[in-house]
Amino acid sequence: MGIVASDPVPCGDCGGTGWILENVDGRKLARSCACRDGILRSDRVAAAGIPERYRVCNFANFSDTNASLKKAKSIAREFVDTWPGVDAGLLLLGPSGLGKTHLACAVLSDLVSKKGVTGLYVDFSDLLMKIQTSFRPDADLSKESILSPMAEAELLVLDELGTSKPHPWVLDVLYNLLNTRYNRKKITIATSNFEDEPDVKSGERDRLEDRIGSRIRSRLFEMCLMVTMRGEDFRRTVVQGQIRSRF
Ligand SMILES: [Zn+2]
Repeated sequence: MGIVASDPVPCGDCGGTGWILENVDGRKLARSCACRDGILRSDRVAAAGIPERYRVCNFANFSDTNASLKKAKSIAREFVDTWPGVDAGLLLLGPSGLGKTHLACAVLSDLVSKKGVTGLYVDFSDLLMKIQTSFRPDADLSKESILSPMAEAELLVLDELGTSKPHPWVLDVLYNLLNTRYNRKKITIATSNFEDEPDVKSGERDRLEDRIGSRIRSRLFEMCLMVTMRGEDFRRTVVQGQIRSRF
């Protein structure tokens, strides 16, 4: 792995290891360097599994161009400020392109880096694939080793709920995971393009329940505060703007 321009300069005291070796009465002792907190913090952020394109997401660079998005952002901010006093997660719903994943990742990385929370990001389709693979006789990883980090994490972000339509038995596994988290009072943030009452303007016909089943839907509504996001698809707007500006 080469050093890229964005890499921070390694600490001059410890060379970036987080430890300083000292000679005390002829014995070598390691003491932790002042920069070690920062190293642990970035280790925790890396362990949270946020995809690269969302690692830069924070509240400051969230595009809140209308009242609904401003409200969503302030709810997410309050969620971070209130932690660990929160008793419900967030269910971010709305058409694609409004920054649901951005907001979820901003909350996750803030809590992991600033409040030392053990957090995990999981993409719904990836998770389903992993569950399916774990049931194969030649599977490398057992079902438990895949699911237990998700059951244990203090904060789980389950992104793009309902993007693929799983087999009923896969939904059972997912239900059990959410149920375990619910019973252990663990907090979950989920995002989905599918809503209870689909937004006619988005052209989406399927309801959330059609995609994930009624059991998971009701469990999520018990675990999370629903936040509906509305607005123009900024990706489409930006891309269209760029295309137009070429003429
Ligand atoms: Zn250091």
